Amino acid sequence: MAAYEYETHEYDVVVVGAGGSGLRATLGMAEAGLRTACVTKVFPTRSHTVAAQGGIAASLGNMGPDHWQWHMYDTVKGSDWLGDVDAMEYLAREAPQAVYELEHYGVPFSRTEDGKIYQRPFGGHTTEFGEGPPVQRTAAAADRTGHAILHTLYGQSLKQKAEFYIEYFAIDLIMSEDGACQGVLAWKLDDGSLHVFSAKMVVLATGGYGRAYFSATSAHTCTGDGGGMVARAGLPLQDMEFVQFHPTGIYGAGCLITEGARGEGGYLTNSEGERFMERYAPTYKDLASRDVVSRCMTIEIREGRGVGPNKDHIHLNLSHLPKEALNLRLPGISESARIFAGVDVTKEPIPVLPTVHYNMGGIPTNYWGEVLNADADNPDRIAPGLMAVGEAACASVHGANRLGSNSLIDLVVFGRAAAIRAGQVVDPKAANPTLNKASLQKALDRFDRMRHANGAVPTADLRHEMQTTMQTNAAVFRTSEVLAEGMEKMTAVAGRMSDIKVTDRSLIWNSDLMETLELDNLMPNALATIVSAEARQESRGAHAHEDFPDRNDEVWRKHTLSWVDDTAVHLDYRPVHTHPLMGHNEGGIDPKRIAPKARVY
Ligand SMILES: Cc1cc2nc3c(=O)[nH]c(=O)nc-3n(C[C@H](O)[C@H](O)[C@H](O)COP(=O)(O)OP(=O)(O)OC[C@H]3O[C@@H](n4cnc5c(N)ncnc54)[C@H](O)[C@@H]3O)c2cc1C
Repeated sequence: MAAYEYETHEYDVVVVGAGGSGLRATLGMAEAGLRTACVTKVFPTRSHTVAAQGGIAASLGNMGPDHWQWHMYDTVKGSDWLGDVDAMEYLAREAPQAVYELEHYGVPFSRTEDGKIYQRPFGGHTTEFGEGPPVQRTAAAADRTGHAILHTLYGQSLKQKAEFYIEYFAIDLIMSEDGACQGVLAWKLDDGSLHVFSAKMVVLATGGYGRAYFSATSAHTCTGDGGGMVARAGLPLQDMEFVQFHPTGIYGAGCLITEGARGEGGYLTNSEGERFMERYAPTYKDLASRDVVSRCMTIEIREGRGVGPNKDHIHLNLSHLPKEALNLRLPGISESARIFAGVDVTKEPIPVLPTVHYNMGGIPTNYWGEVLNADADNPDRIAPGLMAVGEAACASVHGANRLGSNSLIDLVVFGRAAAIRAGQVVDPKAANPTLNKASLQKALDRFDRMRHANGAVPTADLRHEMQTTMQTNAAVFRTSEVLAEGMEKMTAVAGRMSDIKVTDRSLIWNSDLMETLELDNLMPNALATIVSAEARQESRGAHAHEDFPDRNDEVWRKHTLSWVDDTAVHLDYRPVHTHPLMGHNEGGIDPKRIAPKARVY
């Protein structure tokens, strides 16, 4: 039994993560009068949200007619009918209010001539329930929207006297014997001390797990720590097979060129100089949704029409756009293209390739952010004391495929919803629960085991094996054979965690140990992804299964639940929520509008 000293802190709410979702939740909780701490492994404004470029979707209607019901319809269709309809309605309805709040908090949005918030077109966002032209729905601060939002929310959270614990690494949840969350154990990276945060509500806002793959647009800190903690607490993950490949990662470097580039008029070409998206998606062309564009690019490359000496990538053309527009609306990506591809976007095309970008799956929640301890018999059962928001969570508003600019709005709408809910269910006058010592000890023991791990495999080597396996065996297109092989390989890779080697035994700035803990979090996320994918015998959204090319609503319009215990994955399913919150007569959406149909762009 590992003996460590630790300091105990008591709060009403502890938010783990200071990206857009964590900060919006922190701000709202503090505003609601709850004693709130925000624990984060990186400085708040270094969270991956800072890298979001293109913008945030909301039907403000500043650039032409728009309606929240159109936004909801596009989100339902984008999700390939796997998203929960109540959550998607909540997202689209609350979006304008959430964006105006950001504006009033001080986010410096780009402006139209008459001073309104500027909005650009984005893939899959349309008018007239998918029958009209593309809509300009994505509110933007040039191509640095996430940066603007994150800095504003951090400032506002400080103003509300939320308390920040910066460069503290959350290790594990502390759970009561009957499955309620009571707090979290964290390690302070700069002095090696351990801290127990006791709370009436813990909110996981730890972001995605893009780094389970070799080539990803996400930061190296996107290691699915929340999913890892939840899996170890015996709770399920949801819809992990759905991984989004963004069409335009810079070839070789993996950094993102925002979809806003195509929103502003950029287009893709193959080795014949053909604007091939016109062939696949005659109406919306380069602004079809991401899964569709990524698949078309992959087909072009497979059929020998890729560009470059190895014919293994595609060109994104911006040079026909006016220089002033590039300077005003896309300054950041012009710089990225210069640095990472050596390209002057005013003269040459950018070499691009579909790159892992976003995790639709995550910790299952309802539309208040409450985590679900669900199974087939109890599909909506709540895990008391635990919430999840942002990319770590699966509400599920993105279903099988997320629309561009729908993540930033997800962060603020559900960060805010979690705060509203916590204001209702957390009693600031009540005493904090007595911590379950056995659960805390289990967390300390695991930490100690990792710290002294003295096996044969260095962390970086095992991470590389995991990343290349995922890249090869859970890619844009999948087959039964490749997935079955991937399952076998990933089970073996995850099994080697018990043979991991950590060389640094200290507790101060021990990046070797931190990366090992992160790898131990990535593993269950990666395993759940490949096992869930192998089981789903249909094609839906980002899950393109070549042996089962059609969507099969009768059998598969359901959420995958996955429990990961070490190297074993157990699967179960829960139904999709198909009913809107608001009746048609009260001004809600006509249910006929959102009934499943073929998804064409
Ligand atoms: C390059 C890029 C561009 C994008 N552009 C857009 C866009 O234009 N529009 C859009 O809608 N979406 C965009 N997305 C997606 C969107 O930005 C992300 O999904 C979103 O920012 C995730 O926010 P988050 O709050 O969930 O987590 P993050 O911003 O990833 O933050 C995670 C937080 O959790 C903390 N954390 C994690 N693990 C631990 C731990 N163990 N202990 C303590 N703290 C921990 C981190 O310190 C960090 O503060 C983009 C994504 C990328 C990668």
